[in-house]
Amino acid sequence: MPRHTAVLTFLMFGATILGLVGLWRTLSPLLPQAPQSASQTSGQAGTSASEGQSASSEASATRSGTSKPEASKTETSSVWGTDADPRNEDFAVSPDKTDWNYESNGEKVVYLTFDDGPSDNTSEVLDILDQYDCKATFFVVGLEPDYYDMISEAYKRGHTIGMHTYSHDYATVYASTTAYYEDLDAIARVVKQQIGYVPCFIRFPGGSSNTISASYTSGIMTTLAQEVQEQGYQYYDWNVSCGDGAEHTADELVDYATSEGEGVDNIILLLHDSTAKDTTVEALPRIIEHYQEQGYAFKAIDRSTMVPHHGIGN
Ligand SMILES: [Zn+2]
Repeated sequence: MPRHTAVLTFLMFGATILGLVGLWRTLSPLLPQAPQSASQTSGQAGTSASEGQSASSEASATRSGTSKPEASKTETSSVWGTDADPRNEDFAVSPDKTDWNYESNGEKVVYLTFDDGPSDNTSEVLDILDQYDCKATFFVVGLEPDYYDMISEAYKRGHTIGMHTYSHDYATVYASTTAYYEDLDAIARVVKQQIGYVPCFIRFPGGSSNTISASYTSGIMTTLAQEVQEQGYQYYDWNVSCGDGAEHTADELVDYATSEGEGVDNIILLLHDSTAKDTTVEALPRIIEHYQEQGYAFKAIDRSTMVPHHGIGN
């Protein structure tokens, strides 16, 4: 090859490279950058969901570091507990949302509801639920600050968080309607710190049919049941209990939980998540297996879940 041809080829090659670099510089800011723009958008929309929360910073760190295929995976399975989680807006208490469902939807569904946690048993309960691919609902209290992070952990794993009051102390909670709301607000602050918002789902200590409250304030359940709904909350009682409010063996709990639910399609099952309730944890796998064998799905409470209300006792 003559020398001048080789030089010319070299120069043309160089010019092409420079041209391509220039073109890339011009175009690259215009190319779609899905993970980054998604995080910017949700950052603005979800400010309330990211208050003082390690969970959300963890989530955005994951997002900004992901390539495209992983980002789209985030939108399906691992969306739980992130800024993009639709539950953040859907489940937040709102007086404008009053569309509740009081009838069974005819499907075989068990809604496991764990009261009184988080506790040192929550972690194990969550692992069992994962093992059986079950979603559940936790009506939490504020008594064990050491385990507050289990609230966000449960939420991230796809479970619903409801509120059961902060102190769970009947004399405190039912001293007056004002006292009740102070206690509810206290647990609301804890839950908001963990999941970013105040949920609409609540359960009264003792259920709405409790009569203990009458010894502190006569008629308080009638007033509260009406008022909380006007404020956008919904209270969930239960239609099946495993009986773990009292002391029982795991065998007995399995027996109660499974026999009471016979012939019921939408089962709102009462269980407890507290340090003293080891037998509940022991019974849980067998309760789940029983209902799975009967063709039941296990779901977390959402706004479409049948609302069971006990008759009010005072
Ligand atoms: Zn309770």
